[in-house]
Amino acid sequence: MSYKTNIGYRKETLIKLLNTIILHEDEVIQALQNDFNKPIFEAVLTETNYVIADLKDTIKNLQRWAKPKKVLPSILNFPSTDSIYKEPYGKVLIIAPWNYPFQLALCPLISAVAAGNQVVLKPSELTPKTSEVIAKIILKSFDKNHVEVVEGGAEVSQGLLSQRWDYIFFTGSVAVGKIVAMAAAKNLTPVTLELGGKNPCIIDETANLKLAAKRIVWGKFINAGQTCIAPDYILIQKDMKTHFIEYLKVEITNAYGKNPSLSPDFARIVNTKNWLRLANLIDETKVIFGGQTDIENRYISPTLIDESDTDSLIMQEEIFGPILPILSYENETELSSVISKYEKPLALYVFSENKSFSKKIITQFSFGGGCINDTVVHFSNKRLPFGGVGHSGIGAYHGSLSFDVFSHEKGIVKKANWLDLTLRYAPYTGKLTLIKNILKWL
Ligand code: NAD
Repeated sequence: MSYKTNIGYRKETLIKLLNTIILHEDEVIQALQNDFNKPIFEAVLTETNYVIADLKDTIKNLQRWAKPKKVLPSILNFPSTDSIYKEPYGKVLIIAPWNYPFQLALCPLISAVAAGNQVVLKPSELTPKTSEVIAKIILKSFDKNHVEVVEGGAEVSQGLLSQRWDYIFFTGSVAVGKIVAMAAAKNLTPVTLELGGKNPCIIDETANLKLAAKRIVWGKFINAGQTCIAPDYILIQKDMKTHFIEYLKVEITNAYGKNPSLSPDFARIVNTKNWLRLANLIDETKVIFGGQTDIENRYISPTLIDESDTDSLIMQEEIFGPILPILSYENETELSSVISKYEKPLALYVFSENKSFSKKIITQFSFGGGCINDTVVHFSNKRLPFGGVGHSGIGAYHGSLSFDVFSHEKGIVKKANWLDLTLRYAPYTGKLTLIKNILKWL
C-alpha cells in the first residue's frame, strides 16, 4: 500500500482515527486529569474537541487540499499550463511537549497523515498517562508501518533524531529546539520548530482595564500558565498600574475563588522539577497577590508580582507557570527598550482603544502572532498561521497550512506542442531587443 498516492486510504485511516478518539475521549480526559489535574472544561476545549474538530475539517477538505493547484503560466513559456503538485515528504518524525499533550501530538500527526506521510510520534514522557492513551489510540487506528508511537524521554528522542527523516516537526523548548535543528542539519532535513518565548502584554492608558484584566487572567491562568502563548509579563502605562492590579485581583478571585487550590478549574504544575523552578522565581518581597505553594500537590496559586527590574530572575526566561510579573512604562521609548531586550516572542498582546497605538505595536515588533484586546485566542482560528519567528520558532501550521507543511510543493510546467516559439533558442542574433521588451512586462 502506498501512503503517498492513495488519498482514499489516507481518508479511511483518518476516519478510523476519528472514531477511535471519540470512543476513548473520556479516557483521554481522565489521563489529562491524572497527569496534572487538567480541568475537564479545558481538556475538552483545548484538547479532545479541538483535535476532533481539526480531524473533521481535514477529512472534509483532504481531497481539495491534495489536488494539484493550477497557477497562471508565464508568458515566456507560452503555450503552457502550470500547476503545483503536493508531494508527501516520506518519513516524518513528530516530537511533542507535555503542556497540551494530546492536541500538540495529534494535530501535526493528522496533517502529516493527510499529506500522505509515514509518521513516528514521540509524545512527552512528563504526561505518561496521556502518552499511554495516545499510543493505544494510534495502535488501534493505523498499520504500524504507517503510523507508530515511540514512548520515552530525552534519550529515546535523541535516538530517533540520530536517524534520517524526511521531515521533523518539533514542539517544545528553545533549548531542545536547537538540538533538533542541529540533528536535522546533518541530513538537511526540513523542520518546523514550534517553540516558546517571553510574551509581552502591553496596556496603554486608553485600554478598557476591567475587560483587559478578565481576558488576561483567563489567558494567563488557563492550564495554570503552562501555555506557550500565555502572557509572560505585563507592561502597563505607569499611571494605570495600581488601578489595573485591583482589577486583576478581582478577576482571579471571580475565576478561581478565594482559595484556588480548591477550584476544579485550576491545573497543577506538571512535575516537581518544574514546581521547584517556578517556586524559585517567586520573590516574596514582590508578591502582591497569591504566592501560596504546596510541593506535595505541585500547586502554585495564581500569583501577581510587582516587578520593576528587567534583570530580575523572573525576567530572564519564559515563566511557563501561574506567576505574572507586572512592569510599567512611562513612554514609548521605555516600552520599546523592555520588549527589545528579549528574543522575538511567540505571542504579543496589546490592550488599547487607540487604533494607531495598537497598529504601531503590532508592526514595530517582530513576534509569532497575537491579539489586540485579547490573549491566546488567535490560536483558535484555523485560517491564521500559528508559529514563531527567530528564537520562538521556524515555520507555522493550522488549517490548510498544516497540510502544506507536510507536503513538498512541486512546480510543474506542462508545455503544449502545437507551437514552439523560436525566441529563446540560439543563435540569439537580432533577438535581444525583443526579449528585453518582453521581460519588461513580466
Ligand atoms: P521540552 O523541549 O523539554 O520537550 C519537548 C519534547 O522534546 C519532549 O517530547 C521531550 O521528551 C523531548 N526532549 C527533551 N529533552 C530532549 C533532548 N535533550 N533531546 C531531544 N529531545 C528532548 O519542552 P516541554 O517542557 O515539553 O514543553 C514546554 C516548552 O514547549 C515551552 O518552552 C513552551 O513554550 C513550548 N511550547 C511551544 C508550543 C508552540 O506551539 N510553539 C506549544 C507548546 C509548548
